Amino acid sequence: MPKKPLRTMGQQFNRRSWAEPWKIKVVEPIHMVSREEREKAIKQAGYNTFLLPASEVYIDLLTDSGTSAMSDRQWAGMMLGDESYAGSANFYHMEKAIQDYYGYKYVVPTHQGRGAEHLMSQALIKKGDTIPGNMYFTTTRLHQELAGGTFVDVIIDEAHDPENLHPFKGNVDLNKLEDLIKKVGAKKIPFVSLAGTVNMAGGQPISMENMRDVRNLCNKHGIRVYLDTTRMVENSFFIQEREEGYEDKSVAEILKESCSYTDGAWMSAKKDHLVNIGGWLAVNHEDVFEQARNMVVVYEGLHTYGGMAGRDMEALAIGITEAVQDDHIQSRIEQVRYLGSLLVDWGIPIVQPIGGHAIFLNAKEMYPHIPQDQFPAQTLTAELYLDSGIRTMERGVVSSGRDPITGDHKYPSLELVRLTIPRRVYTQAHMDITAEAVRAVYENRKNTKGLEMVYEPKYLRFFQARFEPIK
Ligand SMILES: *Cc1c(COP(=O)(O)O)cnc(C)c1O
Repeated sequence: MPKKPLRTMGQQFNRRSWAEPWKIKVVEPIHMVSREEREKAIKQAGYNTFLLPASEVYIDLLTDSGTSAMSDRQWAGMMLGDESYAGSANFYHMEKAIQDYYGYKYVVPTHQGRGAEHLMSQALIKKGDTIPGNMYFTTTRLHQELAGGTFVDVIIDEAHDPENLHPFKGNVDLNKLEDLIKKVGAKKIPFVSLAGTVNMAGGQPISMENMRDVRNLCNKHGIRVYLDTTRMVENSFFIQEREEGYEDKSVAEILKESCSYTDGAWMSAKKDHLVNIGGWLAVNHEDVFEQARNMVVVYEGLHTYGGMAGRDMEALAIGITEAVQDDHIQSRIEQVRYLGSLLVDWGIPIVQPIGGHAIFLNAKEMYPHIPQDQFPAQTLTAELYLDSGIRTMERGVVSSGRDPITGDHKYPSLELVRLTIPRRVYTQAHMDITAEAVRAVYENRKNTKGLEMVYEPKYLRFFQARFEPIK
């Protein structure tokens, strides 16, 4: 017994409403390298966190893609890998899990999300087509452009305002969509490209009502709707939390209803599905399925593995079931909120409401003295690494790329740094260390100078571009 009772009986206190629904069985040691080594490492990486060796990183918040911790059941599933070239048992498990939880008829496996985006874009888009969507995602838009299409953002204006507290900042602006249909004609729109949660807007959800409205509008014009389901489990949690009529529905039920308003989907299983590699596309129309299933053998692998090993498909099938459990997804999102709330309390500018998979620091507001062509968000990623060995990602003008016609930077209204939380990997103490690092960098903001780009690759430049500090 403690000498003094920690709390007297009957005293009111706020009890935690959640904790991780698991305990830790295996650990992977990490450590912080010295300041000197960090200075050397970031310089060698051209001030681009994508080019840092992971061994130089302490807390890795670069991405939540393929960085999840698998469960003991998933690891057990890996031992049940059926590595038959054709008709692996694991494919059928995965196919059934997708049909059960997402509700689509036909499934094509791919090595990861962009493999599915490639096949979908090639199957559906013709040169000169227009693809409306609720804000772009880097690989999605690029595949749509490579297929000859033009992506047009029809997200609500609130999504571009990092301080607006709209509960569903991922919603489509139906007027923008309708105007676009009038302008280019329904025949030039092969499909509407929906996503939830919207990564580039800060992990913001789309509401069920909005998905239903988009579906109805598209039905009137004979336009199909496809969904990027990469983070739809997280999206479903927000619907349960915020949308009237869904508070008593399970995340699994909400997910299935969301998908029912669309004709098919593509998935990066490296996110919601708690695996290190994998993806798929799934559709309800047989003609699209036939095309995708034929193309998958050219670009990915046979249509019953699509670039994945049998064991990967088994882990994915198990991951789907784990991902839709209410307690899992609640603890996932509450951990992100825990980090975000610390920063908000300290007055550090972040995108609000806090999204599903990451905290987005508002670099434009933090560094008003650094012009956008000196890459404020890229600068902030380098500063965070230098301070504490924490690795984050730029989501601003570097990620946005260049306008294919004018060749100038596309200047996005949001200039953000993403602190992405891997699923089931870090503890609350890691979140505290991270928050304190952000605070230290924030306090030094007035002394910080921008960067100059000294090497720029043609595609998805944020992955490989190199920078130097401005003198
Ligand atoms: C990661 C991601 C993709 C691309 O998937 P990969 O598995 O990285 O190829 C597509 N859309 C969204 C929303 C993503 O987050």
